[in-house]
Amino acid sequence: MKTRGYATPGPTAPLGPFAFERREPGPADVVIDILYCGICHSDIHQARDEWGGSIYPMVPGHEIVGRVSRTGAAVTRFRPGDLAGVGCFVDSCRTCDACREGLEQYCERHLVATYNGREHDGTPTYGGYSATIVVDENYVLAIPADAALAGTAPLLCAGITTYSPLRHWEVGPGSRVGILGLGGLGHVGVRIAAALGAEVTVLSTSPGKEADARRLGAHRFLLTSDPERLRLARGTLDFILDTASAPHDLQPYLRLLARDGAMVQVGAPPEPASVAAFALISGRKTLAGSSIGGIRETQEMLDFCAEHGITADVEVIPISRVNEAYDRTVAADVHYRFVIDMATL
Ligand code: NAP
Ligand code: ZN
Ligand code: ZN
Repeated sequence: MKTRGYATPGPTAPLGPFAFERREPGPADVVIDILYCGICHSDIHQARDEWGGSIYPMVPGHEIVGRVSRTGAAVTRFRPGDLAGVGCFVDSCRTCDACREGLEQYCERHLVATYNGREHDGTPTYGGYSATIVVDENYVLAIPADAALAGTAPLLCAGITTYSPLRHWEVGPGSRVGILGLGGLGHVGVRIAAALGAEVTVLSTSPGKEADARRLGAHRFLLTSDPERLRLARGTLDFILDTASAPHDLQPYLRLLARDGAMVQVGAPPEPASVAAFALISGRKTLAGSSIGGIRETQEMLDFCAEHGITADVEVIPISRVNEAYDRTVAADVHYRFVIDMATL
């Protein structure tokens, strides 16, 4: 079926209007008319080929909320008119251990990314900066009918990417949690960690974000450029979620961990970081990583956020302003997620 969106033809070109084909919906497919799509920093890394291997033309977008317009004959969970969400992947092998455990994001064979990926037959995938998308119902999330839609879209990536490690590392009442980077991921992470009962410290390069950090639920704000305050905070955190999108030295943050603390990378700067062995040896610290979340956990996160009134703080833009939004996101000047209103396409 024909659809249209915004695409970039290559790593240094701006995004612009693009007409393309989606597959004809099969029996298990849901056709979604996209209402809102968030702009994740991963869209920018991939559109600009900062991670390597990008497929062009690229229609980015994996924080998708829309309304079901059509369903295949075998679809049982969605009906036309329902709200639906799509996150970072639209299929996986369904048979490996990870898929069977509901950890599709770690599929051992083939995770079909929502864009900049390939279907099982090799066809490139195109993401959410578009009018419609066709997705197997097993990879579609249910969105409550009363949800604030623009603010819910970013939960499909920023929400699950922060929720999953916070749960995996058992953050809860009494946990002393640091969130490094107050951007799209970070600001949702603050809200989720606070809702889990943690005592939250925001670690930020931006002095102007302190009031927002506190409004979002943080109890403490540390400017990462202030060595004296970082020194005083040594050993005061149990868990740090590192959401920074640009390269940075990990060691000043590892020093903030108490014994047996863990720092988890979700931010994905293209360049590797170096860590001295003693930064981990002293205090038996863990440096780990985490990728988005499985479908089951994503639904759990959406339900948790609905229950706790958590959405993203969004700046809704027309799609014509997407290139400007990319530049402002890279400059850490987003409060705190750009979301495209697809009615402007
Ligand atoms: P974003 O909105 O641009 O936020 C990133 C924040 O990082 C900035 O707002 C800034 O916050 C902070 N930052 C930037 N440069 C920094 C530096 N040099 N040192 C310390 N902090 C710095 O990006 P996002 O959409 O939240 O995504 C963040 C990262 O996560 C990206 O690399 C993205 O690709 C990755 N990601 C990973 C996953 C996964 O599954 N693991 C999923 C989604 C996204 P302050 O102004 O507060 O310093
Ligand atoms: Zn993302
Ligand atoms: Zn699999």
